[in-house]
Amino acid sequence: MIVLKSQEEIARMREAGRVVARTLAQLSRMVEPGVTTAELDREAEQLIRHCGAIPTFKGYQGFPASVCVSINEEVVHGIPSPNRLIQEGDVVSIDCGATLDGVIGDAAISVAAGKCRPRVLELLEFTKRALDAGIRASATGRRLGDISHAIEQVWRSGRLGVVREYCGHGVGHQLHEAPQVPNYGRAGVGPAVAAGWTVALEPMLNLGTGDVRVLADGWTVVTVDGKPSAHFEHTIAVTSKGPVILTLP
Ligand code: MG
Ligand code: MG
Repeated sequence: MIVLKSQEEIARMREAGRVVARTLAQLSRMVEPGVTTAELDREAEQLIRHCGAIPTFKGYQGFPASVCVSINEEVVHGIPSPNRLIQEGDVVSIDCGATLDGVIGDAAISVAAGKCRPRVLELLEFTKRALDAGIRASATGRRLGDISHAIEQVWRSGRLGVVREYCGHGVGHQLHEAPQVPNYGRAGVGPAVAAGWTVALEPMLNLGTGDVRVLADGWTVVTVDGKPSAHFEHTIAVTSKGPVILTLP
């Protein structure tokens, strides 16, 4: 069941989203060769708590850190480590959640460390564009499948692979609520998009195949062909006036 949020709940989610956006902005400024992923995690936890919020991911199903940091062929759910140094040319995907006043914001960005190959920069650009397309389609009068289809059109036009095992999701009182929002699908099908929906849209696109597997640590998702992956995510609210991004500074 899709739980609709009141304007008051959406306003609270906007505050949680602001904490997430501020944290991601700060971490993206820190991404450079020589920085460890544990340093990013420490900064994230400090900043989130400084804002009076709780890092949603810490302890979620046993996840040991406040942010997921996934580099290159790592798609999502990478565990920060003091032994993992960011290197020149890396694609660093950072996923962050914050709980404030009982509600959650969830967002992710991918950042190039130093100089990246042009095709990798294209991957980042298309993934961001896929997210934007999904957001634009998140309006009343549309169907859930329209959002998925809008995202699909972008990764197809970029000749990229799409990860099918993980997808967007409702968010609010829980990190993962109904509905699931796949990053591929047919237009014109599925439930009608309604005012009061709050969803996290999150295309995960790959330079090679969309196929992924989970490493032995039980968390880190990697591409099976070892090619780079990118991930952008925003939490949005559907309103009568259109989609509103909640994870902005
Ligand atoms: Mg996320
Ligand atoms: Mg999410």
